[in-house]
Amino acid sequence: MSAPFDRVILGDVVTTDTILRRGYVAVRGETIAAIGQGEPPPAAETVDHSGRLILPGLVDGHMHTSSALGWPGIEGATRSAAAGGVTTCCDMPYDVPLPVTDAGKLADKIGWVTRTAHVDMALYGTITKQGGVGAIPELAAAGISAFKLSTYEYDAVRFPRIDHQTMRDAFAAIAKTGLPVAIHNEDQELVEQLTAEARAAGRTDPIMHARTRPPLAESMADLEIFELGLATGAHVHIAHSSIARGFDIAAAFRAMGGQATGEACIHYLCMTEDDLVRLAGKGKCNPPFRAAAEIPRMWEALLADRVAYVSTDHAPWPLARKTDPDIFACGAGLTGMQSFAPLMYTLLDERGLSPTLMATYCAERTAKLHGLWPRKGALRVGSDCDLTVLERGDFVFDEAAIVDREELRWSPYHGRRMRARVVSTVLRGREIWDGTRVLATPGSGRFVARSSG
Ligand SMILES: [Zn+2]
Repeated sequence: MSAPFDRVILGDVVTTDTILRRGYVAVRGETIAAIGQGEPPPAAETVDHSGRLILPGLVDGHMHTSSALGWPGIEGATRSAAAGGVTTCCDMPYDVPLPVTDAGKLADKIGWVTRTAHVDMALYGTITKQGGVGAIPELAAAGISAFKLSTYEYDAVRFPRIDHQTMRDAFAAIAKTGLPVAIHNEDQELVEQLTAEARAAGRTDPIMHARTRPPLAESMADLEIFELGLATGAHVHIAHSSIARGFDIAAAFRAMGGQATGEACIHYLCMTEDDLVRLAGKGKCNPPFRAAAEIPRMWEALLADRVAYVSTDHAPWPLARKTDPDIFACGAGLTGMQSFAPLMYTLLDERGLSPTLMATYCAERTAKLHGLWPRKGALRVGSDCDLTVLERGDFVFDEAAIVDREELRWSPYHGRRMRARVVSTVLRGREIWDGTRVLATPGSGRFVARSSG
């Protein structure tokens, strides 16, 4: 008689509400066939991670694989995702040379995912600066997980600011699809004027990045997008709030009947303006790191259940784009996928918080907002067998260990002590990272379409 399960994986199983000590996950094919505690069921193979934590594979709801290198960036970014315990990437649409603004471009990007990704990927879509609202239904029908628009212009083609009237029309069309729309939330006028003043005063040192993008630039944009959401019925989501006030504003709009949410990137839970000064270009991201006093407020918002989920906003610029002494000349964005699981575990453990919060905020919540749950982000019978296995201990994060292209091997967390490391990542039942080597190959990953409204 053949064994009922292909494989049984032993360890402490971390779900969103409990830790099953001496538990197991049993796999059949690509899916989870049983979860339990105690004596494991018979299986063709046993993988022993006793004493280690088995979490759902992380779902990273926000990254940019292709904003520097174009779609060839997918291959390396998803390799570092595998090493960081991320099994599903929700990739932003602001790609080089052209963003994902219609079903044809989406199909082309899905082709790159199918051929080159190491982990599974959901994809965002966006609209052109003018005249793009008409493509919203076809993008939704083609399976994007969310839309992304911006109140701030980095590039008139790749990453445009959408004017108020167009944004209102877009939100009304998006509301009909039932998909969320994530917004890059910074006030263009305020940032541009403060930046011009800083330059005129000869101040281009690192701290000026934070000074020219104050919290007010964010909260003003938050109010604007949530007002448009309330007026149109769209689910409007702050793509990154660096301030607890963003989550308070979202909660206030929910209380008024709006569908208003916001996400925290992991760096806003630990990095401060002092880190921006210390790291210079390598600490530049938008919105910027905030004053140290903001960190406890961010954690308070998370523990009060006001944060939708925690993401990386992984945006890997080549190191050469991060070293200019003029902070305004450096690219905005950090690497973060390979450090995601170790850092999140560490930040929780340093505060005496349970890793169940990681299953909640870095997997289940993200998968739910992107319409991927319970196939993704869940340790449940019938879900894809995507797992992240953590070994606890005293480790130091070394940027040289990043498995992306050589020019992308830098990290704002280089040298940081970590209380865990990823010893195994499993994608649909197959190990894709063994703690040392990426076992996945380009094309191991698949496109995951949104499946629920
Ligand atoms: Zn981003």
